[in-house]
Amino acid sequence: MDTYRELNVESPKDIESVKESVHRFAKDVLRPAAVKLDRMTDPRDVIALDSPLRSVLKQAYQLGYHVAGLPTEMGGMGLRGLGMHVLIEELAWGAGDLAISLLATSFPFSAAAASGNPELFEKFVKPYIADRDGSLIGCWAITEPQHGSDELVPGTPEFHNPRVTGQVVARADGDSYVINGQKAAWVSNGTIATHAALYLTTEPKAGMAGGGVAFVPLNLPGVSKGKPLNKLGQRALNQGEIYFDNVRIPRKWMLTKSEGYELEVERTLTFANSAMAAAFTGVARAAYEEALDYSRQRVQGGQPICEHQLVQKHLFEMFTKVEACRALSRAVMIYNQTSTTPSLEHAIAAKTFCTQASFEVASDALQVFGGNGLSKEYGIEKIFRDARASLIEDGTNDVLSLAGARHILSRAGVTGPAMAR
Ligand SMILES: Cc1cc2nc3c(=O)[nH]c(=O)nc-3n(C[C@H](O)[C@H](O)[C@H](O)COP(=O)(O)OP(=O)(O)OC[C@H]3O[C@@H](n4cnc5c(N)ncnc54)[C@H](O)[C@@H]3O)c2cc1C
Repeated sequence: MDTYRELNVESPKDIESVKESVHRFAKDVLRPAAVKLDRMTDPRDVIALDSPLRSVLKQAYQLGYHVAGLPTEMGGMGLRGLGMHVLIEELAWGAGDLAISLLATSFPFSAAAASGNPELFEKFVKPYIADRDGSLIGCWAITEPQHGSDELVPGTPEFHNPRVTGQVVARADGDSYVINGQKAAWVSNGTIATHAALYLTTEPKAGMAGGGVAFVPLNLPGVSKGKPLNKLGQRALNQGEIYFDNVRIPRKWMLTKSEGYELEVERTLTFANSAMAAAFTGVARAAYEEALDYSRQRVQGGQPICEHQLVQKHLFEMFTKVEACRALSRAVMIYNQTSTTPSLEHAIAAKTFCTQASFEVASDALQVFGGNGLSKEYGIEKIFRDARASLIEDGTNDVLSLAGARHILSRAGVTGPAMAR
């Protein structure tokens, strides 16, 4: 199999077989479909019922990738730690954008399964686990038109600023909550999702910390969607607004209430950032491999460009960055999925490092292609655009780094009003 050298010499056989099968899917299905979807000028075509996206989802669900993280006793693949990392890296090696779509889909169903609510499990999680045609699609709806970075800094004093309050608000009304407001155009799977893990405000006086997480089927009266977003990178990933106009849900569908909300945002961000790190390790590797292949074919000065020393140096720097990404993101994923005290600052370190490295590797790879790197005839310019988007996705690298810094300073005993709690 044409993939990376496994430095973990004791890598279990079942993990090797996951790597092999996901790699095949990524190569044969994800990559060619993502290229077609990326070239569609109208993002409505990306989500049309006869679009390659639908066939990708169907095939991924048939292989059980939509339930990769759910326990085997529930009917999932039961992947954790190393297995989860291997799956995500391979999917994103095929296509970063489609990998994110496949990761986002499980959010509401995993949250409902983890809540232990048997009614939610029977009614919603079971049909999702059994879905083999990709018709049940989830999303993580947290950011809002006025609140991007604000929503993703749990543990910091600004998360508790009572002057900064969310735009999607749930009001208790008897046995129900009534939800009003709008989520950002950036919600991944936003306009095709059938269900949302909806992060909303329940106690506005507590600022961003006064929230809750609701499980919301998106066919309820009062839910509507915006237009699919047209954007620079990750174009195969559908994104768009979701609107809530007096949407009523039973009280028991509020999976997390305000007292547990900040911890839940921290837990979710820790997984999401760890997953982003694994995904963009795969994207960096894809860029490096494209450059390596091209450098063996392109002849200048009478010899393949890989025989020019400066190109060799660039290739080796790319290789080193990919290996560094894998080492850090694997360690973080394994720790965060197996420890009882997952570490947000390590997840942030891995996310910011791997996405920045993937952008640098993609940029260097594009340079190795010369003029052809800019051409749509070659795949490298898509990888470059996809990597660029990752510096903003799941928290901008600047804002995440500032929050991460205050977490490590607090742990080192530094106190003060700006430090993490
Ligand atoms: C590909 C992609 C996928 C996404 N998927 C999802 C999803 O599934 N669900 C979802 O809800 N959202 C999603 N998002 C939204 C994403 O989380 C936000 O875009 C991100 O958190 C940044 O928010 P913003 O775009 O509103 O930028 P802003 O928060 O407005 O930031 C603008 C600029 O100001 C800087 N800035 C902001 N605050 C500070 C500060 N306190 N100190 C210093 N600098 C600051 C930022 O670094 C940035 O440069 C996605 C975004 C992308 C690009």
